[in-house]
Amino acid sequence: MRALVTGGAGFIGSHLIDRLISRGDDVVVIDNLSSGQLSFIEPHVKTGKVVLVQGDLCNPDDVNQAMAMDIDCVYHLAANPDIRLGTRVTDTDLKQGTIATYNVLEAMRSNGVVNIAFASSSVVYGEDAPMPTPEDHGPCMPISLYGASKQAGEGLISSWVGTFGAKAWIFRFANIIGARGTHGVIFDFIHKLKKDPTRLEVLGNGLQEKSYMEVGDCVDAILHVMEHAKEQLNLYNLGSHDTCSVRRIAEIVVEVTNNHGAAIEYTGGERGWAGDIPRARLGIDKMLNTGFDVQMNSEAAVRHTAKCLLEEIGTE
Ligand code: NAD
Repeated sequence: MRALVTGGAGFIGSHLIDRLISRGDDVVVIDNLSSGQLSFIEPHVKTGKVVLVQGDLCNPDDVNQAMAMDIDCVYHLAANPDIRLGTRVTDTDLKQGTIATYNVLEAMRSNGVVNIAFASSSVVYGEDAPMPTPEDHGPCMPISLYGASKQAGEGLISSWVGTFGAKAWIFRFANIIGARGTHGVIFDFIHKLKKDPTRLEVLGNGLQEKSYMEVGDCVDAILHVMEHAKEQLNLYNLGSHDTCSVRRIAEIVVEVTNNHGAAIEYTGGERGWAGDIPRARLGIDKMLNTGFDVQMNSEAAVRHTAKCLLEEIGTE
C-alpha cells in the first residue's frame, strides 16, 4: 500500500506515519511545513520509507505532483490548526481548509485515486448539540470559520463519493493531544509557565470541559476503523469516554511542571475565545462497536501529554 499523507509533518500526521511505516506501507507526504516539523518524519525520510513533497495544498500543481506517485489511499490531515487565526484573517480556513480539500479531491479524480480518510472535527456540531454527541446529530451548525471549513470539506468529500465513486472515511476528532504537540491548551500552559513560573493565565473561567484523546489512540483508531468500516462513506467520531475541564488541566500542568506556587488566574467568561465551544463530548459508540477502545481517558491523556511536552521542551 502506498499512502499519501497531507500534513504528514504535523503532530497527528507524523504519528500516523509511524504506524503506517511499521505496518509496511510506503508513504508520500505533502506538507508546506507551516506548522509541521521536518524532524518529526526525518528518520523515515532518511530510510527512504517516506518521500516528502514540500508543497502547498493551495497549489494544484503541488498536489498533482504528490498524487501522481501511484497512491492507494489519501490521509488528508493538512489544515490551519489555529482556530483563533480564522477570526483575524477570515479567508484562512476557506483557503487552507475548503479550497485545499477541493484540490486534494480533484487531484484524486484526475489521478484515479479512490480512497480518502479525512481529519474533521467535533467543532462541526456547533454548540447546541446534545452530549455525548452522536454522528447522526444534525443539522450541524459550526460557530467557527475553522468548523465551517471542516463541514465544507465533509460535504465535498461526500459529493466526490456520490458523483465520482470515491470511498471515504470521515473522522470527527475530539481534542487530540500527546507527544510532539505544537499547539493547544497544554502546550500553551507549559510555555506560559516557562516564561513566568509564578502565575498561569487561563483564558475563560476554566469551566470549559472537553474530551481529550491521546494521539496514539487517535491514529490506532483511524487505522482500526478503516479496516472494519466498509461502507462507501463512513463517518466516525473519535474520542475518549469522558471530559476534562480547563481548570483541571491547569492544575495538572502546574503539578507536572513542579510550579506548585503558581497562581492560576482566569480571564473570565465561559469561552476561551470567540468561536470556542465551551463544552464538547463526542458519542463514541460507533467507534467502540468496531472493537476499538482507547488506552487513555481524558485526564490520563492530559497528564501523559504534559509530561511528554515538558520533556520535549527541555530538549529544545
Ligand atoms: P498540525 O498543524 O500539527 O498539522 C497540520 C500539518 O499540515 C502541518 O504539518 C502543516 O505544516 C501542514 N499544512 C498546513 N497547511 C498546509 C497547506 N496549505 N499545504 C500543505 N501542508 C499544510 O495539526 P494537527 O493537530 O496534527 O491536525 C491534523 C488535522 O487534524 C488537521 O486537519 C486538524 O484540523 C485536524 N484536527 C486536529 C485536532 C487536534 O486536536 N489536534 C482536532 C480536530 C481535528
